[in-house]
Amino acid sequence: MATGAEAAPLAAVPCSYYFGAGPAVLPPEVIAEIRAELPAFRGSGVSILELGHRSPEFRTVMRETEGDLRELMAIPPDYAVLCMQGGATLQFAMAPLNLGDHGAYLVTGQWSAKAWREAERVADAQAVWDGTADGYTRVPERHEWRVPHAAGYLHYTVNETIAGVEFHAAPASAGVPLAADMTSMILSRPVKVSEHALIYASAQKNLGIAGITVVILNPAALRTPPRGTPSLLDYRVSLEAESLPHTPPVFAWYVLGKMLKWTRSQGGVGAMAARNQRKAELLYAVLDASDFYLNAVDKSSRSWMNVPFRLHDQKLEALFLQEAAATGLKNLAGHRSSGGMRASIYNAMPEAGVATLAEFMRDFARRYG
Ligand code: PMP
Repeated sequence: MATGAEAAPLAAVPCSYYFGAGPAVLPPEVIAEIRAELPAFRGSGVSILELGHRSPEFRTVMRETEGDLRELMAIPPDYAVLCMQGGATLQFAMAPLNLGDHGAYLVTGQWSAKAWREAERVADAQAVWDGTADGYTRVPERHEWRVPHAAGYLHYTVNETIAGVEFHAAPASAGVPLAADMTSMILSRPVKVSEHALIYASAQKNLGIAGITVVILNPAALRTPPRGTPSLLDYRVSLEAESLPHTPPVFAWYVLGKMLKWTRSQGGVGAMAARNQRKAELLYAVLDASDFYLNAVDKSSRSWMNVPFRLHDQKLEALFLQEAAATGLKNLAGHRSSGGMRASIYNAMPEAGVATLAEFMRDFARRYG
């Protein structure tokens, strides 16, 4: 037990840091720009909330957004970039409808399990590796799965937002098209787009706010969807309509554009990766320093974006969260399905925020350890 003198918590910090998993923190510069531009958008005479999606001003937003994303991710010219609605969850169904039957799934956490289950609703799909029984603590090693020849594609979730399990290299797919959910790690570090037939990511982590989903695909990998597939679930319809088969979420698209420009201003994906690695290492070092904190994920599969942890003495967790919030460290509660804590440290979380959290954790462990 701590003594009275040791039990005084750290003084509240002047600014607070928000560790929510998504919707997630946005850079203050982006919020400030949105605020300044809100009354009238780029000389259009209306606010971005009112702007028509066929207006020349919005066309410019679309063009710049696509150009910036292509540059940031080095997207090959023959790949298409789409902006869609329905979140990553709708992509769980669109992948099997458009890439062909017999999807093979690497199940490394709750989101890839959901992707697999959704695929099973609309097509044949199978898990070729499933970490459910082990409680999602690692990604598989190459020799642990086999992709059937007949598989339409191999699907993986690069970063599992709840389990905190991340692939640090694309899995080998034995020539079968690779499909990736990059929702919670896109732009956090470089990825080879050309290794993938399909990449999707909903925006509310590193790309802005909920309501828009980025899809990057190789048109040559598309199959004709089964009869009865609604037109909005057919990628070719969005390709032909240049992402405007219906009214898009103009504001979310605009915020996406701002986030991409902000990412460029920070030095791009390489600079983000260096910063994200430093942030993650700071937190894992605290977790590894003693058995006061626990993180079950294998070191080789640790996420740079979402760091889940528990206290060895789970009775202290409510107090941890309470004191953290009072110190200005907000939304550290783990996912409702797993409990405990989770620090989401996306691109917009400054290193100072992670350093403050690390210091709070060390201090809490000293006082209650
Ligand atoms: N995949 C991953 C990895 C996620 O983290 C999430 C949301 N947290 C989703 C899919 C689902 O995204 P959405 O709610 O936008 O459909």
